[in-house]
Parts: sequence; structure tokens; C-alpha cells
Amino acid sequence: MNIRYRVYDFLLSDPRKQQCHEVLMARNSYYQALDRVEQKEFVLRTLIFLRSVNIHSEHGFFVSREMEILLGSAFVQITLGLKRDVLTYFKRIFIFSKPYSYKNMNTLFNGDVNPITGSINLSWPAIEQGFIVPTEGVNLAIHEFGHCLILENNYCNFLRHILHPKQLKSWERLALKQLVRIRQGRSTLFRRYAGTNLMELFAVALENFFEKPYALYAENPEMYKNMCMLLKQDPRDPAKPTQFHHFM
Ligand SMILES: [Zn+2]
Repeated sequence: MNIRYRVYDFLLSDPRKQQCHEVLMARNSYYQALDRVEQKEFVLRTLIFLRSVNIHSEHGFFVSREMEILLGSAFVQITLGLKRDVLTYFKRIFIFSKPYSYKNMNTLFNGDVNPITGSINLSWPAIEQGFIVPTEGVNLAIHEFGHCLILENNYCNFLRHILHPKQLKSWERLALKQLVRIRQGRSTLFRRYAGTNLMELFAVALENFFEKPYALYAENPEMYKNMCMLLKQDPRDPAKPTQFHHFM
């Protein structure tokens, strides 16, 4: 564990860490499979992440600590292999009790991110559902945090990037081909919506990467390997995803 996490480990109280561990053991299957060493860092990262954001909710809808931990765990899952463990631009998270809509729009949303206000909006039932069924390749929180990661990465200058520029370039190259495959109905894995644009494809690819790693590898091994390099982890090794050696 690096020095930053050792300091946090010292500063954060045991009951806080224990509570976080218990919630994640009960509700996040990715966490359940980790070995003790990775779990320890995961808990610290979750608590650090939650301290860095402001979570608000619809009037009359109470967001418990347990709900916050579950939501935060999606961000930690995506970034466990990366240096970056917080969002610096998207700091405001707003949680609705059910799908919501915007003025003059008929569509109902489960989640969206607003790059102008730096906020993430999510509907609680959809967040929860993503963790209840962790193998169907649909996880709203992972999806929306995926958008945040790409957007923040674009705002960062070259030296402070979150994702390696070269790896990201290769991802885009592979994704352009995958986009055509999806639009032509030739993907058995990706849902149609992923064919909207590269931004949506990235978010859906993340959902598949974590929830259906073998299926993603089978459909597009190049993209799967590239995402392992990009995120510095391999979910096919659930106990030690960040120490991947599969194809090194
Ligand atoms: Zn999206």
C-alpha cells in the first residue's frame, strides 16, 4: 500500500472502515471476490472518494450511508488500478428516488452527467439494480462514472491525464470498428444503445468489462486487452484484478 493510503488508514476510524467493508461484502460482488490486500485499499479509496463529493437528493428522499458506499464503490471499481482516486470536476451528485425528466422533454432518465455544472444525476432504483444483478452487463453507476472519467480526462492537461493517451488512442481506434459492428447488428454482446457514439460505447464497454469480462474477451479480445491496459486491471482475475499478468 502506498504512503497516501497508509496515512488515510491511520486517520480513518476503524468503525468507518468496518462499516464500509460490511456494506461492500453484502452488496458489491466485485469487492467480495477481492483478496484482503485489495479489499483494504478498496475500502480506503471508497472513503476518500466519498469525502471528495457532495451528495444531494430529491426533497424527502433520504440517502443513507450504506447507499453512498454502494454508489461510491462503482467509481472505486473502475479506478482501482489507476493512480487517480477522486473526481476533481464532477463533485456534485444528485440522487432521485425514481426516473426523472427535464423541462420540455418527454424522456425519462435513470442517469446523466452535466459537464456544464459538473454534476452527476442518478435515479436510486437503477443504481441499486445494477448491483443486485452483477452479471448482466448493466450497471448505471459504472456507466455514468465512465462518462465522468472520460470527460475529466479531456479537461486534464497532458501531464495530469487519468488515462494513458496512447492507450486511449488505441481504444478509440478499436472502438470505431466496434461501433460499426454494433450499428450493423453484428454484436451479440453490446446493446444497441452503445452504437450511439464513442462516448456511450465507452460507458457500455465498461459495464461489460466488469460484468461480462469473458464475453467481452470472446467478442473483441483486442478491445478487452486494451481496456486492461487502460484501466490497469483484469477482472478475469477477481481476487487480484490490479496485478494482471495474463498477457504480459
Ligand atoms: Zn450514457
